[in-house]
Amino acid sequence: MWDFHRELKSGKLQCTACPRLCQLSDNEVGWCGARIRKGMKIEPRTYGLIHGRLAEDPIEKKPLYHYHPGKKILSFGSYGCNLGCLHCQNWHISMQKEKSDISKLIKKSPEEIVEDCIDRKMKLIASTYNEPMIAFEYVRDIATLAHKHNIKMVVVDNGYITRKLAEALTPHIDAANIDIKGFSSEFYKEICDSPSWKPILKTCEIFHNQGVHLELTNLIIPTKNDSDSMIREMCEWIYEKLSPLIPLHFSAFRPDYKLNHLPYTSIKTLEKAIRTATDVGLKYVYIGNVSGHKGNHTYCHNCGKLVIKRERFFTGIINLHGNCCSSCGTQLPIVVASE
Ligand code: SF4
Repeated sequence: MWDFHRELKSGKLQCTACPRLCQLSDNEVGWCGARIRKGMKIEPRTYGLIHGRLAEDPIEKKPLYHYHPGKKILSFGSYGCNLGCLHCQNWHISMQKEKSDISKLIKKSPEEIVEDCIDRKMKLIASTYNEPMIAFEYVRDIATLAHKHNIKMVVVDNGYITRKLAEALTPHIDAANIDIKGFSSEFYKEICDSPSWKPILKTCEIFHNQGVHLELTNLIIPTKNDSDSMIREMCEWIYEKLSPLIPLHFSAFRPDYKLNHLPYTSIKTLEKAIRTATDVGLKYVYIGNVSGHKGNHTYCHNCGKLVIKRERFFTGIINLHGNCCSSCGTQLPIVVASE
């Protein structure tokens, strides 16, 4: 099951963890900078290595708005990525493949991460900041241990993995935010250096169908993926293939890395995207990276009453009974922590 490579006639090993399908000679590192061939195996050289310290983040920062709202999540990232986004905000840990320097990473075994989480009396762990799936063995081992202690495992993910990996991993993952960065092959090619993008949609479907709590993010980059037609097409796909109840976060772009010549996303553009998504029929659409906007709050999809109020990362549950709207009693697609 956990065998994500195949032997080629050329003698190379092909990594089948993500659709790049790198062909590796012995000791060669893959495109992502994380996986390496060692003999007849391909493994993450970043296993048990994290960048910086473990952080206590509000879960809303992932962003997850419908999963344990108001709780803190123990977060870590490592090194490398299998996409090459020109606007990456964590490029210093995801993009320096030419240097491939992992010597500054800090050792943290799965046991240490879970023990740390228990010591802090927290119930959630997130693999985030860089792409988790290029070191899926590490995520799996943390999740397996975490589950023994009733701790949930979350990934913040680009979804660019093979179907086989997605299906193998879902039993280990409780919740995910997948970043759908745009909705065309041209966009993924130009902005993310990605030869394909449909596997990302398949990952979303697999996660959703196999019961992983799923939320989606779409960072709107001025002139690149902000057309009404692209946003509408994405929303229609979410509506038809996933569910109108899947939370969608439209996030504001801020100039960074190789797209620092572009402007910030305007509030007007974000509000227009919300109107488009609502018009298509999506029930829970949010604005990200803009504090104080009413698009941060959650409203019952049945009666329209405010149920969760958010101010930056302060979250107030004001009208929920369990996961039901206190006003009309409708069960909402929100997973509330059981204390
Ligand atoms: S996970 Fe890394 S090594 Fe494997 S195919 Fe993708 S980019 Fe290549």
